[in-house]
Amino acid sequence: MAYRIVFATGNKGKMREIREIMADFDIEILSMAEAGVETDVVEDGTTFMENSFIKARAIADKCRKMGYTQDIVLADDSGLVVDALGGEPGIYSARYLGEDTPYSVKNAKIIERMEGIPDDERTARFVCAIACVMPDGSELSAEATYEGAIGYEEKGANGFGYDPIFYLPDRKVYSAELDPDEKNRISHRGKALVKMRELLQDKI
Ligand code: IMP
Repeated sequence: MAYRIVFATGNKGKMREIREIMADFDIEILSMAEAGVETDVVEDGTTFMENSFIKARAIADKCRKMGYTQDIVLADDSGLVVDALGGEPGIYSARYLGEDTPYSVKNAKIIERMEGIPDDERTARFVCAIACVMPDGSELSAEATYEGAIGYEEKGANGFGYDPIFYLPDRKVYSAELDPDEKNRISHRGKALVKMRELLQDKI
């Protein structure tokens, strides 16, 4: 049986990104839906890495039970950490103010909470943790950050989520103003996936 990589996500953008980054491996890369697995696990970890391992282990278990003993299972967890807000929204980024609340509202709230905070204290970062469970049960992990600051308004039409308020002081643009390929190259997820590719290179 050949190795397969199963990425525990239903997000099409993430699947495109992982396929591009892992393209050098001559391995089939499947989403959860393509692998015929689902997860209903509660992500009740206290860190990004704990949550990504909760997902990866649950999916790896399901793949084994379906008879796929050679699956390499990857899962990611990410979010926005704002220093002046004590690390919020952090692991609760997707759930902040409610899962279904539009990002225009979430972003406006963060800007409001940052009122009066000077430029040098507006630092923030996106964090991405990637967990991997290998067919023999061994585990690998990779984490990366995308550093920036909370701006004073929403700007840009690209990206998603908190990108319109995430300002990159070095480039003097908001993350949502970046070309998608450029963002993938410098972002937390892109960099964590490249680190994971390096770890996997030694194993497969
Ligand atoms: P997930 O763990 O990748 O699903 O991300 C959790 C949440 O973090 C998302 O729903 C967004 O709110 C936020 N997030 C993660 N990565 C990004 C990003 O690159 N831009 C904007 N928001 C992000």
